[in-house]
Amino acid sequence: MFKINQNYLKLPGSYLFSDIGRKVNAYAAAHPDKRIIRLGIGDVTQPLAPAIISALHGAVEEMGDAATFRGYAPDLGYGFLRDAIAENDYKARGCDIRPEEIFISDGAKCDSGNIQEIFSLDNRIAVCDPVYPVYVDTNVMAGRAGCYDSRTETWSDVIYMPCMAENGFAPDLPKETPDIIYLCFPNNPTGAAITRGQLQEWVDYANRVGSVIIYDAAYEAYISEEDVPHSIYECQGARTCAIELRSFSKNAGFTGVRLGFTVIPRELKAGDVSLHSLWARRHGTKYNGAPYIVQRAGEAVYSREGRDQLKEQVAYYMRNAAYISQGLKEAGYTVSGGVNAPYIWLKAPGGMSSWDFFDYLLEKANVVGTPGVGFGPSGEGYFRLTAFGSYENTVEAVERIKAL
Ligand SMILES: *Cc1c(COP(=O)(O)O)cnc(C)c1O
Repeated sequence: MFKINQNYLKLPGSYLFSDIGRKVNAYAAAHPDKRIIRLGIGDVTQPLAPAIISALHGAVEEMGDAATFRGYAPDLGYGFLRDAIAENDYKARGCDIRPEEIFISDGAKCDSGNIQEIFSLDNRIAVCDPVYPVYVDTNVMAGRAGCYDSRTETWSDVIYMPCMAENGFAPDLPKETPDIIYLCFPNNPTGAAITRGQLQEWVDYANRVGSVIIYDAAYEAYISEEDVPHSIYECQGARTCAIELRSFSKNAGFTGVRLGFTVIPRELKAGDVSLHSLWARRHGTKYNGAPYIVQRAGEAVYSREGRDQLKEQVAYYMRNAAYISQGLKEAGYTVSGGVNAPYIWLKAPGGMSSWDFFDYLLEKANVVGTPGVGFGPSGEGYFRLTAFGSYENTVEAVERIKAL
């Protein structure tokens, strides 16, 4: 008789976005005359930039001609894309990362979920609280998280690092020593960033205690401040302790196109085994590559026109972020984020819970956001708004909130 992976049964189930959907649908059905503005889900809305569309068309044409048709991509991705990444994302920022250390994939969600496979089950993980749920849930599925306590909404074997107003939404070094540390900066959901100096402390810590940092830099393109690092490899010593995850979803609108990459430096080792060789083995065995057409589109992200067009796209979203931030502050809210990330993190007023504020905003302003508690217990009392809406909707949503 077959048996299932019992770890899946431990998952409490992420009802966050379905609960939100249910509440919004019920409200919309009861009030068909109201126009609801959704600033909840972290998905982009602007169309692909012309330089990317043109690269897609070109690659589609190549696939229709026997002379230029391509089948399976090379295991770790096409050289043209890995070279463009090494040059633009790393060399141009003074980071020593070679094309051979870059693994092309179909996105950072898969990579951030799959990377735990190359580590032993008795590793302890540390995560920020609130957190992007993928890091925790994939470790639960693997059997690395222990037991769930529904009262505290935490796992017995996971080290939680609270990120709250008191510490500027940047985690403190944990009291217990983790083996694997997940960090995401600029952060989803809080929109917070950390400075190069702060990240250097994490790199020094990881090298000292022998842990590995899995650094999710999906929002790197939104950084506007000078002392915020775009890559963990801007820190001294990161090559011996850090894996970096990147995505084309948020900087180039590829959420539906799918492209990302993982960087594993050659020096990152457990004893004399390099993590690079393990991930290469895993990639070669379980993955057959991002589509050629999409990798060509990714290459166009680094072209002159591509870069100019995407800078404008990011600026469009960040204008929304600034508008939300400014407007909410004027309305008396305590607001953070929105400077180096497309997320605004606000404190629900008057000691309201995250879900009470969700209901209040839906009913009184017909605006949908995301309850902070959905990302972890330390998110209770907070609320996330995203800058990914249209400018017009963003302005109207803010005006409605100000009028409450
Ligand atoms: C959106 C996002 C990603 C990107 O995921 P893709 O699979 O590349 O679309 C990764 N990490 C975080 C924290 C995100 O919010």
